[in-house]
Amino acid sequence: MIQFTNDVEKIADREMIRKMASEFAEKHIRPYVMEWDEAQYFPVDTFKAMGELGLMGVLVPESLGGAGLGYHEYVDVIVEIAKVCGAVGLSVAAHNSLCTGHILAFGNDEQKKKWLPKLATGEWIGAWGLTEANTGSDAMRMQTTAVLDGDHDVVNGSKNWITHGKTGDVAVVMVRTGELGSSKGISAIVIEKGSPGFTHGKKENKLGMRASETTELIFDNCRVPKENLLDIEGTGFKQAMKVLDGGRISIAALSLGIAKGAYEAAVKYAKERHQFGQPIANFQGISFKLADMATEIQASELLIHQAAHLKNNGMEVTKVSAMAKYMASEVAVKCSTEAVQIFGGYGYTKDFPVEKFYRDSKLCTIGEGTSEIQKLVIAREVLK
Ligand SMILES: Cc1cc2nc3c(=O)[nH]c(=O)nc-3n(C[C@H](O)[C@H](O)[C@H](O)COP(=O)(O)OP(=O)(O)OC[C@H]3O[C@@H](n4cnc5c(N)ncnc54)[C@H](O)[C@@H]3O)c2cc1C
Repeated sequence: MIQFTNDVEKIADREMIRKMASEFAEKHIRPYVMEWDEAQYFPVDTFKAMGELGLMGVLVPESLGGAGLGYHEYVDVIVEIAKVCGAVGLSVAAHNSLCTGHILAFGNDEQKKKWLPKLATGEWIGAWGLTEANTGSDAMRMQTTAVLDGDHDVVNGSKNWITHGKTGDVAVVMVRTGELGSSKGISAIVIEKGSPGFTHGKKENKLGMRASETTELIFDNCRVPKENLLDIEGTGFKQAMKVLDGGRISIAALSLGIAKGAYEAAVKYAKERHQFGQPIANFQGISFKLADMATEIQASELLIHQAAHLKNNGMEVTKVSAMAKYMASEVAVKCSTEAVQIFGGYGYTKDFPVEKFYRDSKLCTIGEGTSEIQKLVIAREVLK
């Protein structure tokens, strides 16, 4: 485990949390992974159980019902869950970093007290809506609008690819309150399930991450109390970018978990599988693959914990979190691809775990900003 402290008590506490997440994943997630994947079943009860353990509000202060932990512990939790199931890892990451993280960072005291205890304990599941059908990477051109009418905002439009769009009890939604294409024309508001005019659309039938629910959100003259606005009107885009700075650490952690899961399965298989009278691990062609995987996983882990360290200390993290997300997600795709190769024909079946890592990993280079967008962010920072 990569440490940024010599404090033995802190190291022991972190190890205890990592172990708890790992044991939960082994006992309550692993037995059902393929069943949930096949059925595209989003395991709400498992989320509630994780909420009881503090895993749904890892970064939320204890006074607001959370676990009150830091980013290193948060990374460890997501890694341990994603090693077993990337889809559950994605949902935990989205709930913690996006919806919950946005309200934690930009809500006023009243808003935090209203929503965070429910989110942090898993009583409520959170969603976060930035992306629209025609505006993904170019989110600034979003077209969902909110217009003030008395003491309510009236929201019209739709959001696509929203994690927990159907089951979510509450969503933070970025809406246009000003000029199209202007970063200052966007605001962030909290919309609860059951608000008149708020429904969900179709559930996506996905390549991977199938146990994580992804749907459209639809707003048809949806009336939202104006006190649900987060921070100042017109700052929603800036808020979303800050939320993504933290969110990218969680997608990097998700990637790391998938890469580790695929790597560990490949190491075990390479020692067990015999061809030409010996374990395939004896062939340099296979052992060099494992050496590359181990090296790239460790490098990703260092970058992720550097980003976690910066975030814990309130330091600028935009460049390093984009680097961590870019590198770890590409490494996850590479490691899971190589793991399938090491398993040979068996890797191409659903009887072994690596085909699922292979399918799940691809989301990591797309969600919360594609690899190309991470490179834009990194280049902008480098050329400042
Ligand atoms: C499973 C899943 C869960 C998701 N969950 C959420 C969620 O909870 N909330 C939410 O708001 N969104 C969510 N998303 C949306 C996700 O963030 C977007 O899919 C992502 O940002 C990419 O947008 P896009 O799909 O519209 O692709 P596009 O922006 O259309 O990109 C298409 C291609 O063009 C490239 N490209 C675009 N612009 C540039 C450029 N300037 N330079 C170089 N290349 C470029 C991209 O890298 C990509 O390869 C989710 C997506 C998925 C698949």
